[in-house]
Amino acid sequence: MSIGVAVLGSTGSIGRSTLQVLARQRERFRVVALTGHSNKALLAQQASEWKPAFVGLVNGGSGEQGAGSRNGSSCLVEAATHPDVKIVVNGIVGAAGLEATLAALRAGKRVALANKETLVMAGELVAQAARAGGGEIVPVDSEHSAVLQCLAGRRTELARLILTASGGPFRTWGPERVSRATVAEALKHPTWTMGKKITVDSATLVNKALEVIEAHFLFDVEYARVEVVIHPQSVIHGFVEFVDGSVLAQVGFPTMELPILYALTYPERVPDQGVRRFDPVAAGTLTFEAVQPDRFPAYVTGRDAARVGGTAPARFNAANEVAVQLFLDERITFGRIAEIIERVVGAGSRESGAVASLEEVLAADTEARRLAREAACS
Ligand code: NAD
Ligand code: MG
Repeated sequence: MSIGVAVLGSTGSIGRSTLQVLARQRERFRVVALTGHSNKALLAQQASEWKPAFVGLVNGGSGEQGAGSRNGSSCLVEAATHPDVKIVVNGIVGAAGLEATLAALRAGKRVALANKETLVMAGELVAQAARAGGGEIVPVDSEHSAVLQCLAGRRTELARLILTASGGPFRTWGPERVSRATVAEALKHPTWTMGKKITVDSATLVNKALEVIEAHFLFDVEYARVEVVIHPQSVIHGFVEFVDGSVLAQVGFPTMELPILYALTYPERVPDQGVRRFDPVAAGTLTFEAVQPDRFPAYVTGRDAARVGGTAPARFNAANEVAVQLFLDERITFGRIAEIIERVVGAGSRESGAVASLEEVLAADTEARRLAREAACS
């Protein structure tokens, strides 16, 4: 009997890659639910190919659309908790993915998580939901998949993580030029093809700050033990150092299909011919550089928010979501993204750092979005 999968955000980059993987693994998995935000045509095409029991379109008016078809944001939780679903691939971008992740974990599902914003906002609450409902999170993010693969269950022997970052398109640009970078320039990622938001996050290195927080919650490791190194070729996805000083790394040409497949089959591996086989000679020279904090101020703010804890990561995430959207809409310059985030996170710097309730997290998210919009106008 095949395993039922829900793909949330099936019309996006992660969602489409997931369906590519599933198309090669039809004996093992079947698609039970698909959701998209507003790309109705693509969602309909996917639905006609996969014939899922449930299809949800968030932005398609409200109410029921006939058997197995729903509109409105409640379709996400419905898809994530569908009784025939065992694995929920969460490929939604941003805070909108939180409710579905919590609901799936409470319902005892595996969440193959690409939607890192969820863990950043509410890492403790997500862990609680998993404990309460018997669900589990398996990362899709390539760096965290690398760590999971290197760890191979030996969590107690973990000493340090080193996450790699490509450095994005502006790695070698001077600060003045970066501050005036256009949307087209920011969307020209050197090694990965992804959705717009994460591509901008890679240019500011906010993505790596989000990933440091993600790693902290996924692997229960303190922030001082999560390091980041710039590795422009994106061939090594992450390093794990063990207590004896030995280091393992996970290697491959950049593709999200491998981490997605691993999140579906973990802890097993299954035969798959979909990704380009590794060739060290073709990979060529691999280089590494320290992160220069003055080049990536938003990364520094993110690490500070992580250390503060409590609702600070949620504020960091919310401010970034607003700032990135304003940048994509050409309402602010690239340089203002980091500045706006800094103002919003700084405004909450006296907070306690205690574990927050869901209400507190959502209130912090709303407040940070308001402050970010205000900061953008001033
Ligand atoms: P994308 O923009 O290509 O796709 C996002 C998907 O989410 C779309 O299907 C869209 O319909 C849906 N969506 C957007 N807003 C929504 C809302 N308010 N409610 C419900 N659905 C909504 O983005 P992506 O690149 O696929 O990234 C998705 C997530 O995966 C992000 O959290 C990103 O950080 C993470 N991620 C992506 C990659 C990658 O290679 N693309 C790699 C690692 C992690
Ligand atoms: Mg990543």
